[in-house]
Amino acid sequence: MRILIVSDIHANLIALNTVIEAAGSFDRIWCLGDVVGYGPEPNACIETLRAYDLLCIAGNHDWAVLDKLDLEEFNPDARGAALWTRNQLSVNNLDWLHALPERVAPQLDKFTLVHGSPRYPIWEYVLTPAVARLNFDHFDTPVCLMGHTHVPVVYRHAPGARTALAEPLVENAPLTFGPERMMINPGSVGQPRDGDNRAAFAVLDTETATLTPHRVAYDIGATQAKMEQAGLPLRLIARLSYGW
Ligand code: ZN
Repeated sequence: MRILIVSDIHANLIALNTVIEAAGSFDRIWCLGDVVGYGPEPNACIETLRAYDLLCIAGNHDWAVLDKLDLEEFNPDARGAALWTRNQLSVNNLDWLHALPERVAPQLDKFTLVHGSPRYPIWEYVLTPAVARLNFDHFDTPVCLMGHTHVPVVYRHAPGARTALAEPLVENAPLTFGPERMMINPGSVGQPRDGDNRAAFAVLDTETATLTPHRVAYDIGATQAKMEQAGLPLRLIARLSYGW
């Protein structure tokens, strides 16, 4: 089985469609949250995902749109985009967002899926090996897949080791599951923040037991034009060009 792993789509339909095409054939999608917020096409992104065999968990932006989170915690641009998104979404798609779980049972006995971190699934950013190390004590499976930071990375923790090590994901280089446990962030489809403006995703192949990170260029200008039309904040439009 091949599973397409996506995270932080942020209503960027053009990026999502480009990723789906680049991924080739796959059997399922696992989505690690933040389907909406920031981008111009929230309804279409939800409907595109729902057409597949899908497992999707909630992210902080999904909750912000629903008023499940205090919007005061967001910066003004993110807050503006959340309010705009709330007005755009169909009742059906709002209901779907509402039903997204914060946690799901481990998948295939091996994979924990969260948006932020195993410790605090909605909010915590895993940006350092120290924070990753603490989080290795908060899940039981060999691998945790997470999103939220929009930065592709793998943290490794060897049995008994006191520290965790961070490595950037290498495009097209398959990761194999080892004796070490791993926390893997595939990066963001719709708003990359690692200085590379291409959409990021990963493909899990259960036959070969590998997870391969990928990047694909998409038509950034077309997404930016839609954001301008929608009147979304200029800073959010500009940052897509820089991957930041
Ligand atoms: Zn996000």
